[in-house]
Amino acid sequence: MNVLDSQRIYSSFLRMGFEPASTLKEANIFALNTCSVRKKAEEKVFSRLSEIKKLKESGNLKKILLCGCIPESYGEEILKKFPFIDYLIGPDQIQNIPKILEKERAVALDFEERVSFNEEDFERTVEVMPMVTVMEGCNQFCSYCVVPFTRGREKSRNFYEILREVEALAKKGFTSIMLLGQVINNYKCPETNFKLDKLLKEIAKIIELKNIIFITSHPHYFNDELIETISIYENISPYIHLPAQSGSNKILRAMNRKYTVEDYIDLIEKIKKAKEGASFSSDFIVGFPSEEEEDFQETINLIKKVRYSSIYGFAYSPRQNTKAAEIKDNISRKEKLERLNYLFKVQDEIQKEDNSKLIDSIFEVQVYGKASKPEGAFSARTKSNRVVNFISNKELKKGEWVKVQITEGLTHSLFGNEV
Ligand code: SAH
Ligand code: SF4
Repeated sequence: MNVLDSQRIYSSFLRMGFEPASTLKEANIFALNTCSVRKKAEEKVFSRLSEIKKLKESGNLKKILLCGCIPESYGEEILKKFPFIDYLIGPDQIQNIPKILEKERAVALDFEERVSFNEEDFERTVEVMPMVTVMEGCNQFCSYCVVPFTRGREKSRNFYEILREVEALAKKGFTSIMLLGQVINNYKCPETNFKLDKLLKEIAKIIELKNIIFITSHPHYFNDELIETISIYENISPYIHLPAQSGSNKILRAMNRKYTVEDYIDLIEKIKKAKEGASFSSDFIVGFPSEEEEDFQETINLIKKVRYSSIYGFAYSPRQNTKAAEIKDNISRKEKLERLNYLFKVQDEIQKEDNSKLIDSIFEVQVYGKASKPEGAFSARTKSNRVVNFISNKELKKGEWVKVQITEGLTHSLFGNEV
């Protein structure tokens, strides 16, 4: 979602007649899009701002825009520390950038009631898999998470508006799309009440589309209609991002996740049975307050049981306004990092083993461009979102689909030859 927001910011400037600067030193305007989901992301922004300050004092830089979740979360307070920022723009105000820039300085942090941007007017810079917003915001209030405060309440886009946009992208020649929402499986069109299963069905009927990915699904709302829909349509990706966060029921309860580990495993089994080639990824937080070694081991057991194709793991950090921030963060940084490293070690072994089992299989893959190595190789992705680097004797274009036979299964990618 942040990547898409950055594309929108970039596109707003193109529309206003600006040109991209080739170096930071050359730039007259600098827009920084920010994330505040974890402390580390925030720290990066603060150190970047200190660098930028120097450029404004003695260079070409005239205006600084701070966009996204950090200004939303801190409000004007942030100007005390960084008074050289000219514009504070919340995630919901990105669409209004041209208007906001009519003023010398501005604070634009209001939430809009509806998703009101018109994506059809926005110039996409992606070449392979464009992203399309389905819903924004979040009402879940997981106890650790700042998103409901920075992106506001859940709001779904109109069903037909999404459909029109996806059809337009397909007409332009895109064969893959990524549908986006914080809790995408809670999508509900405000006018028709159509849900995600109905939306996916209509999108899957667009014959040009070969791969439709939707993220992120919340395990509590993954219903049977949705499972049935993804099982029927071959062009709905078998890649399902289903964040578990923890394998311990005690911690899941404290996180306000609304499911037990047993519910989660049942859901995975159901999806696996229904959808051919289903492959899962997940987010995990380690070191949530009161997580004991036993709870952490339950997370490891879950990882071993599900055998995800990839995972994202994070050390817990308290976030402003959240419920969990009121509880003492009682696990040391060292302990959190040790748990995190162990979690990645277990997952890496699983990935290496499972990827090795894919040797000799043939995948239809979509070309993303040249691989960084070896010389001349291409980089691509399977429909299940696995990275495949491969050799071909043709000059392939980005977005093209080819068949590749796997010769090597590495930890984070597969290698093969075009067949
Ligand atoms: N909407 C998505 C996730 C959004 S945030 C969902 O419901 O899963 C992305 C990920 O950041 C979360 O899944 C979580 O694993 C992690 N995260 C969120 N808040 C965090 C915190 N305070 N500390 C560490 N990780 C956090
Ligand atoms: Fe955050 Fe939970 Fe909402 Fe995801 S579902 S954005 S983790 S509050």
